[in-house]
Amino acid sequence: MEKTYLKYGLHSATPDLLESIPALGKLKKRNPSYIKRAEEAQKKARRFAGKEMLPRVLKTDKKCSEDPKWFDWELWRKANREKLNISPIPERLGGLGWSALANAIMVEELASVCLAGASNITFNTFGLLGALVECRTGIVLKIIRMMVDAQKKEKPLFWSWAITEPGAGTDMEEEAGMKKMRPSTRADKVPGGYRINGTKCFITNGSLASFVIASVPTDPSQPLESMATFLIPAASKGFSVGRVERKSGQKASQTAELFFDNLFVPEENLWEPPGRGLRHTREILSVTRGYIGVAALGIARGALEHCLQYASRKTIKQHRLIDEEWVQIEIADMAKGIMALRNQCYNFAIALDTYHAWQLFDRIPVKAALKVLPGSFLLGDKIQAIADNRIVSNIGSWYKHRLVSDETVEKFVKYGSAAKVAGTDLAVRISSKVLDIVGLEGMSHEFGMEKYFRDAKVTQIYEGTNQANRIDIFNHEIGRLL
Ligand SMILES: Cc1cc2nc3c(=O)[nH]c(=O)nc-3n(C[C@H](O)[C@H](O)[C@H](O)COP(=O)(O)OP(=O)(O)OC[C@H]3O[C@@H](n4cnc5c(N)ncnc54)[C@H](O)[C@@H]3O)c2cc1C
Repeated sequence: MEKTYLKYGLHSATPDLLESIPALGKLKKRNPSYIKRAEEAQKKARRFAGKEMLPRVLKTDKKCSEDPKWFDWELWRKANREKLNISPIPERLGGLGWSALANAIMVEELASVCLAGASNITFNTFGLLGALVECRTGIVLKIIRMMVDAQKKEKPLFWSWAITEPGAGTDMEEEAGMKKMRPSTRADKVPGGYRINGTKCFITNGSLASFVIASVPTDPSQPLESMATFLIPAASKGFSVGRVERKSGQKASQTAELFFDNLFVPEENLWEPPGRGLRHTREILSVTRGYIGVAALGIARGALEHCLQYASRKTIKQHRLIDEEWVQIEIADMAKGIMALRNQCYNFAIALDTYHAWQLFDRIPVKAALKVLPGSFLLGDKIQAIADNRIVSNIGSWYKHRLVSDETVEKFVKYGSAAKVAGTDLAVRISSKVLDIVGLEGMSHEFGMEKYFRDAKVTQIYEGTNQANRIDIFNHEIGRLL
C-alpha cells in the first residue's frame, strides 16, 4: 500500500457540528451567535489541523523520539498567528472570544491529528484558568495582558501546572490521599514571602514555561491543612529544569522534572493561602479532566479515520477490506462510541459555559465593560490600577465564588472525570481495534496508526489515573446516596 494515502485525509468528510449533534439546532435558534461561533471554531481548527498539522505530525513525533527536547516552533508560530493559543480571551481584549464549547471543538479537531500538537497549542489557557479560580481582578487582567502582548510579539509564553511529585501523583488530587501523603516540596514563611524547596516531576511544558503554578505545602507533616498554590516565575533564582521525559506517547509535548532550590516567592505570588491548595487543584481539574475526554474523542476519531482510509484502499480476497462484514460491524461499533462520547463531551462544555467560570464573560458587568470601554483603555495601565485595587479585587473574587461555588466545582469534577474515563478508555479501545483490523502496516510508524494507540494510553494516566477518576465518580454519584 502506498504510504502517501494519508494525504487524502478524511477530515473534509467528517460531519459538521449540527450534523454530528442535531440537538444543537434548538440552541442555535435561541442563541444563534453562540452556535455560529462554535461552527466557526470548527472550521478554523479543522483547516489548521488538516493543512498545518497533518503534513508534519509523523516527522515531529520521530524527531521527539530521538530528542525529547525538540520543539516544533514553526507550528507553534502558525497557531500563535491564528490566536489559537489565546482563544478564550474575549475579542475586545485581543483573543478569539471562544466559549468552552468552541474550545472543546478546537481540541477535538486538533487532537484528531495529534494529541501533543493540540496540547502545545491549547495548554496555555492554564495560566488564565489558574488565575480565574480566585479571580482577583488585578491578577486576571495582568495575565490577559501578558498573553495578548506575547501573542502580538510572537513571543513564547508557556504556563505549567505542577502538582505531581516523585512520591505523590494521584494523592495530590484528592482529600483522603493528601491527608496521608508525605510531600517532598515545602514552602517556609520568610519576611515578604516564602522560600520553596523540593522537586516536581512529569510537568507538561515545565521545560518551556515562563510561569509555573505549583501546589506546595507550608507544613509537609500536614499537607491537606497547609497546601498552598504559588505562582513561580521560571526566571526566579533557585528554579531549574531536570530531565525531559522520554515518553511512549504525546512525545511532542515536553514533560519535565522541576527543581526548587531555596527559591524565594514574594507574598503577592501566593495565589491560594495554606489550606486552600487542594481547592485550587480541584477547580482546575473540574475543567481539565473534561477536556482530556475531548482530546481522547479526537484521538478516537483520528484513529477511526485512518482505519477507514486504510480499509477502503486495502484489497483482500479481491475486494476492499471495508467490504468485509466483520470490518463494517467493528467500524460501526467505533462510530457509535464516538457519537455517544461527542454528546457527552459537548454537553460538558456547554455546562461549563452555563455554570462554571466561563459564564463570567457572559455576565452583565463584564459584558458591559467589554462593550462600552474603548479597546486601548481595556488593556491600559489605568484599568490595571483599578483592577489592582484591593476592594475591586475582593469584589471580583466574591462575585466569582458566588457564581462558582465549591459544590459546583465538585459536581464538575464528577462530570469531567466521567468524560475523561469514558473518552480515554474509548480512545484506547478504538486505537487498539484499528491496529487489529489493519494488521502489519498498523505497526509501522509511517502510517501513523500506532501513534494513536501510544497517545491514547497516556491520557488514561494523567490528571489522576482512570482508577482514581472512577473513585471520584463513585464518591460523587453513588457514595452520597449510601
Ligand atoms: C504525559 C504526562 C503529562 C503530565 N503532566 C502533568 C502536569 O502538567 N502536571 C502535573 O502535576 N502532573 C502531570 N503528570 C503526572 C500525572 O498527573 C500523574 O502521573 C498521575 O496523576 C498519576 O500519578 P502517579 O503517576 O504518581 O501514579 P500513582 O498516583 O502513584 O498511582 C499508582 C497506582 O496506584 C493507583 N492509585 C493511586 N492513588 C489511588 C487512589 N486514591 N485510589 C485508587 N487508586 C489509586 C493508581 O490508579 C495507579 O494504578 C503528567 C503525566 C504524564 C504521563
